[in-house]
Amino acid sequence: MVEKDEEYEALHWVVAHGRGVIHTGSMGLFSRVLSMSGVTSGRESYYYMRYDDSPERDNIPMTFYTVFGNPGIDVILREEVEPVGNVFDVIAVYDSSMLLHQTSQRALVLDGAKKNAVLVVNTSLEAEKILEVVKKHALAEDWNGRIVTVRATSLAKKHRADMSYALLGALSRGWDLIKIGDLMSALDSLALSGNAALVREAYDSAEVLDVSVRADDLELARVRLDRKTEAPEYNGRYWDRETYRQYQKAASEAISYSERIEAMPRWEAMAPGLIDFGPDPGHRNIGFKTSFSRYVRPLIDSKRCTDCKLCHLYCPDGAIDFDPIRIDYDYCQGCGICERVCPVKAISTVTEMKAVEGLDEEEFTRVEEALREYGY
Ligand code: SF4
Ligand code: SF4
Repeated sequence: MVEKDEEYEALHWVVAHGRGVIHTGSMGLFSRVLSMSGVTSGRESYYYMRYDDSPERDNIPMTFYTVFGNPGIDVILREEVEPVGNVFDVIAVYDSSMLLHQTSQRALVLDGAKKNAVLVVNTSLEAEKILEVVKKHALAEDWNGRIVTVRATSLAKKHRADMSYALLGALSRGWDLIKIGDLMSALDSLALSGNAALVREAYDSAEVLDVSVRADDLELARVRLDRKTEAPEYNGRYWDRETYRQYQKAASEAISYSERIEAMPRWEAMAPGLIDFGPDPGHRNIGFKTSFSRYVRPLIDSKRCTDCKLCHLYCPDGAIDFDPIRIDYDYCQGCGICERVCPVKAISTVTEMKAVEGLDEEEFTRVEEALREYGY
C-alpha cells in the first residue's frame, strides 16, 4: 500500500502557460496528447486547466496541468491533487513574452519548478538568449535544468497544423519520461497520426541547452528576500475600506499568482453592494498591478495628441495621468480602450515583445492574425 505523501512525491507534472483563446484550445490538445502518451507507456495520467488571474481582462493567462503517476501509482483516485511546492518537471511556454515579468515581481513562470526542471519554449530565439531572459525575468531560485527551444509557430505554419504538436516534439526531446515513440502511439490512438511529421520535425530541430543557475546571481531572488507587506487575514466579517486597501497593497506586491490569490479577500468578506477594486478618481488600481497577461502595449504619439483627455477618462485602471497625458505601464492592462476612444488616432498598440525587449516577433504572426479574427 502506497502512502499518500509517498504517492504525491512520485507524481510527475507538466505545466503549460499560454493566454487567450488560441492558446487555450492548443494547450488542451497538447495536454490531451501528452496525457495519452503517459497512458501508452503504462502510467496513469490526467490533465486539467485553470485561469490564473481572472481580474485582468484581456488575454487572460491560462495554465494547463498534466499529471503522471509511476507504474503502480494511482493518480486518478486521489481526492485532491494540487501542485504544492517545487513539483513541476516540465514547464512549457506557448508565448516567450510570458517569460518577461515586465513591471512587477509576480508571475514568475518558473515558480514551482523542480531544481532539474525542463523549460520548453516556443520561440525563434536561441536557447542562450532565452536563458538570459529567464535569469532576468522568470527565475528566483537555483536551477540545474534544461532549456529546449523550438520554432513552434513557424513549424505549425509550415505543416498547417496546431503548434501544440511542435511543443510536444520538443518536450520529448528534452524530457526522458515521454519518448518520441510514446507520442507517436498516442497520436495513433487519438486518430491524430497525420501530425506525426510535425512532431518529428520539432523533435529533430529543437535546441537543447543544459543550464546551471545559482539564486545568488539572480536579482529576483533578492527582491523576494526584501519583501515586507503581509495580506490581512479574513476575520469572518465584512472588510471595511481600510482592510481592502491593506489587501490591495499586499496583492500589488505579491510575487507569484498563488500568493496573490491567497491575498485576495474571500467573497464572504465583501460587503453587500461593495465593489471596491477599482481606483479612486485620479488614483491607480493598486490591487491589480499589471503582470504578464498584457499582450499589447499602447503608445501615445505626442505629435498627434490634442490633449482632449478622453483616454484618461476612459481608462478603467486609472493608468493614464491627466496632466500631462502619460501612460503608467505598471498599471496598464493592455485592454486597448484608450486606442479605441482616441478621436485623432494618436494611440497605437504594439506587442509586448517588441515594446519590452525588441525580440523577434515572427513567431507571433499566426496568433496575432487569429486574435484579430476573434476581434481582439
Ligand atoms: S492605458 Fe489604455 S490599454 Fe492601458 S489599461 Fe488604460 S485604457 Fe487599457
Ligand atoms: S484621447 Fe488621444 S488625443 Fe485625447 S488625450 Fe488621449 S491620446 Fe491625446
